[in-house]
Amino acid sequence: MTEDFRARARAWLEANAPRRAAGDDDGESGAATTLAEQKAFQAKLYDAGFAGITWPTEYGGQGLTNAEQIDWSREARDYDLPNGAFFIGLSMPGNTILEVGSEAQKKRYLPAMLRGEEIWCQLFSEPGAGSDVASLQTSAVRDGDGWVLNGQKVWTSGAQYSDFGAVLARTDPAKPKHEGISMFIVDMHAPGVTVRPLKVATGHSPFNEVFFDNVRIPADGLIGEENKGWAAAVVMLRHERIAIGTMSAPRTSPLGYESLRSLAAGLGRTDDQAVRRRLAELYARSRGVQLFGLLLREEAMAGRLPGARGSVAKLAGSDLGRFAANVALDVLGDQLAGSDAEELQTVATLIVAAPGSAIAGGTSEIQRNIIGERVLGLAKDPGVDRSTPFNQLRVGTQRSDVPASSGEPR
Ligand SMILES: Cc1cc2nc3c(=O)[nH]c(=O)nc-3n(C[C@H](O)[C@H](O)[C@H](O)COP(=O)(O)OP(=O)(O)OC[C@H]3O[C@@H](n4cnc5c(N)ncnc54)[C@H](O)[C@@H]3O)c2cc1C
Repeated sequence: MTEDFRARARAWLEANAPRRAAGDDDGESGAATTLAEQKAFQAKLYDAGFAGITWPTEYGGQGLTNAEQIDWSREARDYDLPNGAFFIGLSMPGNTILEVGSEAQKKRYLPAMLRGEEIWCQLFSEPGAGSDVASLQTSAVRDGDGWVLNGQKVWTSGAQYSDFGAVLARTDPAKPKHEGISMFIVDMHAPGVTVRPLKVATGHSPFNEVFFDNVRIPADGLIGEENKGWAAAVVMLRHERIAIGTMSAPRTSPLGYESLRSLAAGLGRTDDQAVRRRLAELYARSRGVQLFGLLLREEAMAGRLPGARGSVAKLAGSDLGRFAANVALDVLGDQLAGSDAEELQTVATLIVAAPGSAIAGGTSEIQRNIIGERVLGLAKDPGVDRSTPFNQLRVGTQRSDVPASSGEPR
């Protein structure tokens, strides 16, 4: 059975997807294609029966097992699937709705995601709530049978082309910070939603600021239970960590061993002992990260969740990215400055972008805290603000002199 599936997957990929080539970056899958092309590719993937392999058939999935998912991943890893815009929606909000959403939400939203019709984003971080996301100040106030959303999110990847977002908002500021939060589905095209791109050092705008001004959320927009949004957030953060922590290490990245060795050879620098040592270390570290990611991915697909080991993979992967950027600087040095060569420009862009991987999906310090507490068994952060009503905390722009009885966070 899985033999047939694997042969079918191999044939379909060969006929429909571009093979990875040295110079492609695994983390930017589909970056060079237009949104329309990405939607068309996702629709083709769905029609061929390779989207949502383990999701139930009643929600548009294939209803197959982890064995087929593992086969698909093994076959697909040599191809550059041009559907990166769907990565966040399918791995984070999609899996969260599948776990804690209502029957109506699963039927309405999951098939449309799989068919490539609707793109989703994740709206958690705010200017005053990143690592400590439970300090968020965006509010959702009851209005009839729905809610009215007000506030600001930041660093929202893909918001500029998303149709829907999974947003965390405070629904009861008189409760301790983790207990008064709810998760909602927000229509990104609704009146009152403003998306402003943020330009990063590379010159690109991968993420955005998102403002909500009296945005109406209908009654069926609540994911999970009211004031139990932290539980839904934990589910989504788990899926985020699995998705990022088990991503394959960039074997063919311009900052990878193969690419930098060939660039060093082209510049006649491979006789330099110091350069050879740096390249050898890059090869060894890349291989370790790649094999650990592969192990976790296959374990996760077989039903064993990585838990805190996902943080080890995430930390090792982002450390490797920064190490590779330093090796690239050592190898290429002043060749990078002002070069018109496309290959060198790509390397320069990736060097500038490298620190971002140590922040996205939870910073390296937060991963170290998790590893310290859950892998090494060190003492847990006492969390002195965990039981105080949120509206009595000094958080972000929230005033500490607002009486708890006012019920408003600001
Ligand atoms: C490429 C990229 C994509 C992103 N995409 C999204 C997205 O789609 N949706 C979304 O909601 N967010 C997104 N983010 C935001 C990301 O989740 C946050 O930037 C991250 O959680 C850190 O929050 P912060 O920037 O507010 O930093 P802060 O939390 O303010 O941290 C500042 C510094 O303090 C350190 N620190 C904080 N708390 C502790 C602690 N307890 N112990 C030790 N050190 C600590 C941090 O490690 C960091 O060095 C993205 C970020 C990046 C870089």
